[in-house]
Amino acid sequence: RGSSRGVLIRDDWPGFPLHLFSFPKHYAEDLECVLIPHGIIMDRTERLARDIMSDLGDHDIVVLCVLKGGYQFCSDLVEVIKALSRTSERSLLMRVDFIRLHSYLNDQSTEDLHIVGPEDLSILSGKNVLIVEGIVDTGKTMKALLKHVVTFQPKMVKVAGLLVKRVASGVGSLPDYVGFEIPNRFVVGYALDYNEYFRDLSHICVISDDGKRKYKV
Ligand code: 5GP
Repeated sequence: RGSSRGVLIRDDWPGFPLHLFSFPKHYAEDLECVLIPHGIIMDRTERLARDIMSDLGDHDIVVLCVLKGGYQFCSDLVEVIKALSRTSERSLLMRVDFIRLHSYLNDQSTEDLHIVGPEDLSILSGKNVLIVEGIVDTGKTMKALLKHVVTFQPKMVKVAGLLVKRVASGVGSLPDYVGFEIPNRFVVGYALDYNEYFRDLSHICVISDDGKRKYKV
């Protein structure tokens, strides 16, 4: 199943008009459109969880959630895997851990990647690790993180990414499990932020120029 590109959202997809959905009114001027409604994210997550179960079921895994942008996806993915584990023949013993990365300022990726948090990653040694990330853009972050994780000698490493951007400059490899492949636009919501804003939005939306100006640092 490895490196399916997920649900394809084409470059000419205009998104859904905002006024057809509900969203916090403080963001009324700040969004261009709804690119992926929350319900579709949940439906896709359910399927990814099933794929993960059928590939890794009956193993023990350590889910490594990449904060902060991956928290919502990770939390929902873990919920579905939990539900499958209690209702099906196979079950997946999961531990959940967290890692925090910084690489963005405004909407630009910066070169230096900081891995934050005193977490002792030596717990990954000899384990099956599932890294869960919200969005993969150029893939630089994922590449650096993988390099770091591998130094702790896990038995296996898989990556689940909710969104993968279609970018020409992509350097890294694709996640093993991809939710959606999206156009190269800056998206927010469902835990993905713009300078810490928009995490309190359930849909994945395209930010407007007004929004970028308003929350610029
Ligand atoms: P990469 O190293 O793959 O270029 O960048 C990955 C990181 O950049 C992601 O983990 C995420 O934090 C941030 N990022 C890239 N594109 C977007 C985007 O469209 N929206 C948001 N909110 N963050 C993004």
